[in-house]
Amino acid sequence: MKSSSNQLVPSYSVADIQLDVGDHEFKKGVKILEGGGVKNVRNDKHSFYADVVGSKAGQWYSVSVSAKEFDRGDCTCYLGCNDQLCKHMVALAIHVVREFSPQGAEEIVQPLDQAVCSGEVRNIKPDEIDKIKVNITKALKYVKPYSGPSRTWFQYQDSLSRGCRLLLLTLSDLPVCEKSVDIIVDVLKRLERKLMNGVDDSDGTVGGCIEEVVELLNLFSDINPSLISYINKKIPQGEMFDWHTVYQHYL
Ligand SMILES: [Zn+2]
Repeated sequence: MKSSSNQLVPSYSVADIQLDVGDHEFKKGVKILEGGGVKNVRNDKHSFYADVVGSKAGQWYSVSVSAKEFDRGDCTCYLGCNDQLCKHMVALAIHVVREFSPQGAEEIVQPLDQAVCSGEVRNIKPDEIDKIKVNITKALKYVKPYSGPSRTWFQYQDSLSRGCRLLLLTLSDLPVCEKSVDIIVDVLKRLERKLMNGVDDSDGTVGGCIEEVVELLNLFSDINPSLISYINKKIPQGEMFDWHTVYQHYL
């Protein structure tokens, strides 16, 4: 019998998994798990192991995930055999957090791949500004120039995706006010500068994120139309992007 003090505990949280894999893959993992598709869970000193159900009837894969990083693991499915993170590993990772690290099990409920507006019309408080700026800086660190060898390219794209999701998550806390518009416009300028300075966005991740950030300005304008003229004054004349084609209230 396992004693609880020896139980291996994952170092990641469910939110970490969500930020790393995005909404679509995360939902696939949850669906497998909640359909009873993860069984015979066990562990050694470093990793968790389980049988995870496949898409065909009666098909089960042998899956493992490390307790340190859930994307370090194996699966006998096609993707897993090609060294890629698959939904079976995601399902097992979610399971072990819920089971062995319940304080990390809280899910981010909002979508992570699109702009979400707080909907609160009020001024932002100074301590909120500080906190949000710290989080923006943290997110933008993942959006860095690419200089590595081609074998690390996928890892690099994952870093861009994580940065963009963190950014959208952070901006969704902004109340609807002029100061928040300033913060959003500053983020747009910084993202554009990054694209002009060595960020390899061949997957369009950062470009898509920029559009979502402008979309947030659309949501602000819908919720509080008196901000429209302020946004028009502030929205930058992008060097790469024509922000006005995405901002629907351009005057
Ligand atoms: Zn798999």
